[in-house]
Amino acid sequence: MNDCIFCKIINKEIPSKIVFENDKVIAFEDLAPVAPIHILIVPKKHLASAVDLNSEEDFEYVKEVYKAAKVIATEMEISESGFRIVNNCGEDGGQTVKHIHFHLIGGRKLEGMA
Ligand code: AMP
Ligand code: ZN
Repeated sequence: MNDCIFCKIINKEIPSKIVFENDKVIAFEDLAPVAPIHILIVPKKHLASAVDLNSEEDFEYVKEVYKAAKVIATEMEISESGFRIVNNCGEDGGQTVKHIHFHLIGGRKLEGMA
């Protein structure tokens, strides 16, 4: 997608602080962190949101997201203390970037849900 900011990050057209990358996902620091650790894990296929996951191949990306989350959390030493993985979907879900992504948030005690 030409005008998608996360596709541009995937294609290295705009900079980001990448912490993990393989052929299926890229993970980089969120520009506006809400916790000491706030990473965005983004499938390399442009899918607008969770409701646009259709094929088995699409769902394979979600699996890769969780595998990456485990690696990153372990590297950042929060796999024991705990963390949160959040996917905002659609307007009421608070999604602002229309390329599916998962927030990995940790490094402090998280409260509440919304
Ligand atoms: P969401 O509200 O779930 O769509 O989350 C979008 C997230 O992307 C927000 O937490 C933003 O701070 C973050 N974000 C937007 N643009 C960038 C960027 N260029 N680099 C890193 N994070 C970004
Ligand atoms: Zn995109």
